[in-house]
Amino acid sequence: MCEFEYTEEIISFRRTVRIHKKVIGKPMELCLCPRCASQFYNSPHYYIKRADYNQTTKEPCTYCNIRSGYDFLIFDLAQDAS
Ligand SMILES: [Zn+2]
Repeated sequence: MCEFEYTEEIISFRRTVRIHKKVIGKPMELCLCPRCASQFYNSPHYYIKRADYNQTTKEPCTYCNIRSGYDFLIFDLAQDAS
């Protein structure tokens, strides 16, 4: 089990918000279409990134099996105890 941290900067309305979250465990690798990937992007429980930015061939989405997309790494984020 690997554990590491990432820091992400969101710049909006001239304010910089720093998000610092702890990633738990190993990432899942999934092939996701843009629609399904956005579900993870919008979730506060996951951190998602492209597995390979050089990937150009799309594969069937493992989530919906309808559309096609690229490989992504999905990380579980530790939730605040509060
Ligand atoms: Zn999909």
